[in-house]
Amino acid sequence: MENLNQLCIHTITTKPWPIEIAAENYAKAGVSGITVWRDALDGRNIYQTGEMLRSHQLEIVSLCRGGFFPSTSAEKRKAAIDDNKKAIDEAAALGAPMVVLVCGADPAQSLATSRKQIQEGIESLIPYAEANNVRLTIEPLHPMYADTRSAINTLAQANDMAETIDSPWVGIAVDVYHLWWDDLLQSEIMRCGRNGNLYAFHICDWKSPTEDFLLDRGLMGEGCINVPQIREWVEEAGFKGLYEVEIFSNRYWGMNQQEFLNMIIKAYLEKS
Ligand code: ZN
Repeated sequence: MENLNQLCIHTITTKPWPIEIAAENYAKAGVSGITVWRDALDGRNIYQTGEMLRSHQLEIVSLCRGGFFPSTSAEKRKAAIDDNKKAIDEAAALGAPMVVLVCGADPAQSLATSRKQIQEGIESLIPYAEANNVRLTIEPLHPMYADTRSAINTLAQANDMAETIDSPWVGIAVDVYHLWWDDLLQSEIMRCGRNGNLYAFHICDWKSPTEDFLLDRGLMGEGCINVPQIREWVEEAGFKGLYEVEIFSNRYWGMNQQEFLNMIIKAYLEKS
């Protein structure tokens, strides 16, 4: 199963499976990596869960997710920093090399103010991230989420922030679902790679029509994103990591998850 050696799946993609079952079935199918969502760790010993994943020869690619820095309330901003430290602790215990950041936004203030608070939040975490050997990965989100989920909506904005912060502990995740529409995508991917900031690559598809703008992501090849083209750019930019399938879908979560896993592998091999 050599050709699956760059395939990683997010635990949330097969949400109905507890992480133990997901790990067993991913490994059996020849999947090489896993990205762990924090809810999958609920009630578990995190260190032992990391050992369990490694015993299945799964590379732990990242922990999802931290972030949500901006708020008009100083108290909430402080709580976000504490929660991000907890996420870094969890990543370290699990053996994940990075925490993916959904950076956040507060509709009660401007996007510029939210971006400033995101930058301050990330900068304040760098010593803690470094002490724990965990990198912080900014994931720009589609602008439809700019009200509450992220004030960082383009790869150019993420590049600007990562370059301003200028730390080997801070980079970027490129997710095709969030960035496929951007006419600057190719050049910004090259810029991201050139600066050593291209840490992660997430794949799925944008269904047309999309029935739900959070929970109706498609499998690669099912929608209008040219995943192979973006993959080519990412490789050209020097990315050598795993390709992470991240799909939130009520439709797929309602299916037999083993059948869905088979569909993911087929889509990965043929359409990405
Ligand atoms: Zn993503």
